[in-house]
Amino acid sequence: MGLMTKAEYIESLRKLKPTVYMFGQRVEDVVDNPRLRAGIEATGATYELAEAPEYRDLIVTQSKLIDEPINRFNNPPASIADLVARVKINRLLGRRVGTCFQRCTGQDCLVALSVTTYDVDRKYGTDYNKRFLDFLKHMQKNDLAANAGVTDVKGDRSLGPNEQPDKDAYLHVVEKRVDGIVVRGAKCHQTGSLSAHEIIVLPTRALRKGEEEFAVAFAVPSDTAGVIHVVGRSSLDTREQDGCDCGNRRYSKYAPTVIFDNVFVPWNRVFLCGEVEFAADLVAYFSAFHRQSHGGCKAGKIDCMVGAALTMMAYNGTEKVGHHKEKVIDMIHRAETLYGCSLAASYEGKPMPSGTYFIDPVLANASKIHEGKEMAEATRLMIDIAGGFVADLPSDRDFDHPDVGPLLKKYLKGSAQAPVENRIKMFRLIEKMAMESADTISDIHGGGSPAAHRLTIFRESDTQSKVEAAKRLAGIED
Ligand SMILES: Cc1cc2nc3c(=O)[nH]c(=O)nc-3n(C[C@H](O)[C@H](O)[C@H](O)COP(=O)(O)OP(=O)(O)OC[C@H]3O[C@@H](n4cnc5c(N)ncnc54)[C@H](O)[C@@H]3O)c2cc1C
Repeated sequence: MGLMTKAEYIESLRKLKPTVYMFGQRVEDVVDNPRLRAGIEATGATYELAEAPEYRDLIVTQSKLIDEPINRFNNPPASIADLVARVKINRLLGRRVGTCFQRCTGQDCLVALSVTTYDVDRKYGTDYNKRFLDFLKHMQKNDLAANAGVTDVKGDRSLGPNEQPDKDAYLHVVEKRVDGIVVRGAKCHQTGSLSAHEIIVLPTRALRKGEEEFAVAFAVPSDTAGVIHVVGRSSLDTREQDGCDCGNRRYSKYAPTVIFDNVFVPWNRVFLCGEVEFAADLVAYFSAFHRQSHGGCKAGKIDCMVGAALTMMAYNGTEKVGHHKEKVIDMIHRAETLYGCSLAASYEGKPMPSGTYFIDPVLANASKIHEGKEMAEATRLMIDIAGGFVADLPSDRDFDHPDVGPLLKKYLKGSAQAPVENRIKMFRLIEKMAMESADTISDIHGGGSPAAHRLTIFRESDTQSKVEAAKRLAGIED
């Protein structure tokens, strides 16, 4: 079928019939629900920009697998140039949508599977890599979007999967049949699960002997029987539902909890089943890639925040204020450090036995730790520059009210050159960028908790060479 246009992508989602609950009600029409549509539009940007002549060369590449042009989101990187392009695309899209575009997690899963299925086959003589490549062809030929089902609900964190009072706390295989497997469990925080055609499920943690039933990886269409999407609340979400005071007037983010209620998966879509020692690899490859993905898109979001801060300075009459300029510089250097670290992880990438290129995990995790702290700092600086109306701006409905509206517009006026309506819109956008919980909390927890980022850095760093460097200088010979 080849590359989809944005319009074709939206139409393709209409053909899916997922089971969805939101705000206590069944949602039948996902695509035209304003809350969900704002998220779908954000993923739509990955299709839209692939069509744009100025970005096509960056986003579209030739697939070696199907020998056709494909969107890079379905391309496991096969060179340093591919790894670098990933980060540049993510920054471009982060800047375009000012929130999460919800398609990188699918690529991160494809990368993890392309490396790991090859390694499992080498050890056990299985045919997971062939199954994966058939699935990848399907993704590439039809230009599909995938969501990552990685995070299990996990129950009591002090207990392993087998020790949980309710085993379903970790998604697991409940039945093996001749034609496939049946799985049960729930994956939470599933960014854009309804903006995606496919859900790729990976284990959430390293596993041990005896935990075989939890060592499972597979892909299912997002409307498969037994898959139930429950859309999570996010601060500001009813603004989209009401069609009022949205801030970001085009795009948004949502993240459902996805329940797998005895879901059947045919064998040709099963990419790991019981090989416990490879669960850790899948988690490590997925999470390192995903942490690096954030370095691109969050730098792009800071670009929008810098733009908003500079615009507010013009609207408020503070563009010459020294401490505001300093704060904008502080925002820019945070974006560039994040981006630079993420790019460096690409430039230091290496080929894996499967031929897929893998990023430097230490640099990728350093970028993620930086994001966790510095996105919050960039947000603080943006709010400092903008002023208090980020907190409690009256509603558009009050601005439109025949009695109080004119009074509000008189009192909200900033610089004489700036229309008051624009100042109001910019306050609203800043509120959205600072307080959209489905996006901002991912700065901290996206791709694993901060402790996981730190552990990876320590595990993957060559600490021995650092010890040797210090001992050499001190004249210590062991
Ligand atoms: C906005 C957002 C979007 C996301 N998108 C996706 C997505 O698309 N797909 C996906 O699969 N996941 C997604 N995630 C999930 C994300 O990866 C998890 O939130 C993250 O891994 C943390 O897991 P948790 O939320 O269960 O918190 P927990 O694992 O409960 O962690 C909470 C705290 O407890 C600590 N902790 C937990 N267990 C232990 C232990 N045994 N020992 C020591 N410390 C412990 C952690 O380090 C952390 O400090 C998203 C998350 C967010 C917030």
